[in-house]
Amino acid sequence: MSGRVGFLGLGANGPEARARLEQALAGLEAAGVTLAAVASPLSGPFVGPDGRPDARAPRVLNSVAEVRTALSSEALLACCARLELAAGRVRDGGPVRALDLDLLALGEERRDGAPPLLPHPRALERAFVLAPWEEIAPFALVPGTGADVLTHAARWRARAPEAFAVLTLEAPLALPDLRRRLTVLPDRGALAAWRSAQPVALGLVPTMGALHAGHAALVRRARAASEAVLATVFVNPLQFGPGEDLARYPRSFESDRAVLAAAGADAVYVPDAADLYAPGFATYVVPEGPALGFEGERRPGHFRGVATVVLKLLQRARAERAWFGRKDAQQAAVLQRLAQDLDLPTEVIVAPTVRDHDGLALSSRNRYLTPAERARALALPAALDGLRQAAAQGERDVARLLAPARARLEAAGLVPDYLSVVDPDSFTSLEQLGPAPALVLATVRCGTTRLLDNRWVVCPV
Ligand code: AMP
Repeated sequence: MSGRVGFLGLGANGPEARARLEQALAGLEAAGVTLAAVASPLSGPFVGPDGRPDARAPRVLNSVAEVRTALSSEALLACCARLELAAGRVRDGGPVRALDLDLLALGEERRDGAPPLLPHPRALERAFVLAPWEEIAPFALVPGTGADVLTHAARWRARAPEAFAVLTLEAPLALPDLRRRLTVLPDRGALAAWRSAQPVALGLVPTMGALHAGHAALVRRARAASEAVLATVFVNPLQFGPGEDLARYPRSFESDRAVLAAAGADAVYVPDAADLYAPGFATYVVPEGPALGFEGERRPGHFRGVATVVLKLLQRARAERAWFGRKDAQQAAVLQRLAQDLDLPTEVIVAPTVRDHDGLALSSRNRYLTPAERARALALPAALDGLRQAAAQGERDVARLLAPARARLEAAGLVPDYLSVVDPDSFTSLEQLGPAPALVLATVRCGTTRLLDNRWVVCPV
């Protein structure tokens, strides 16, 4: 797929602000700017040029989009200006923004050798830019600074915690419907025939179905970076232990088809167990290293089942890249190791977690929660947010970081299974935060449902 990756800041306030942002996203797609990811919008006070919130101005809805485009930076800026004008933008310096589109970064380097654009000099001092940018691209390097978005967000969290605290998460923006015709591939033969007619740059998104916006986000990312996109829907019996929820795992293929088509998948492979595990099947991948603790310890055989099925799916799909979610961070680490250790030709890409409008990480298992449990579950992301904030403000001692988080979970009636800060690749527990980003992992029981979540933690120097 040609084109460069870029980031756009989006903002609007006043009546119909949401509709204007959604029209802008549709306008970008129509102009040849592919949306790879769009952060959940945040609402907050209007911040004037002096960096101070203006309580009299209408609240602003902000987001950040990751795009891929073959347009030059000049052409992309012109496209943004056109969309601003079409939305009724008047440049009078006042506190009403019909539409604000800022180019935050584009490509590695401009053609003339100059550094990539970072046109808004104060973007790195704006929580409403950093928070959504961090959500969709924590490891994107911010042009001209040598540091990634995660680090900039941590630095600004330490300096201006209140600027983050006043932001409220809002419902996701409606994204343009890509309306692909989706080919359903019921078995290995159909997959092989379809694959042989596809270009080389195939993107793969393996799932267990019961699809939600987190899965759709992986498909959108795959589509932006690939010539064709294949999703798989397979509830893999090999990764469920005795007494786990294999039989009652939600299955909803009709709605899954609609989600995949709208997000831009070209085909979906929906094998049954016999298609993957023929009689006499006797060869398994047994991952060690990052697979040993946490989920690996609580769910014996789980990662053996995951690694075995993913290796088979990668072999059958012959994809150039495959996308997995950070939501299942340990699984992602196991699969990155698998690809490296077994010299797989497929690049394993891990995309950030997609959350519901109130911060709960989306999961197919959330549908097991009763409304009261769903409300209590919010203590999980809140506890991790609190821990991230404490780390940003300089606390390096993991025991001191974990204690208030654990207390917050318990106060909400969530039963912590494990709560740890780990190295994101090896999944070994840390006692002190170092210079590299670490992951805080939490698994709790909420009623009868097990909920998993994690957050990046950075202690800026
Ligand atoms: P599953 O269907 O639960 O096996 O998930 C299929 C893929 O989607 C895995 O790579 C998951 O990590 C990923 N995924 C699940 N939930 C989310 C989420 N909320 N955000 C991003 N990715 C997700």
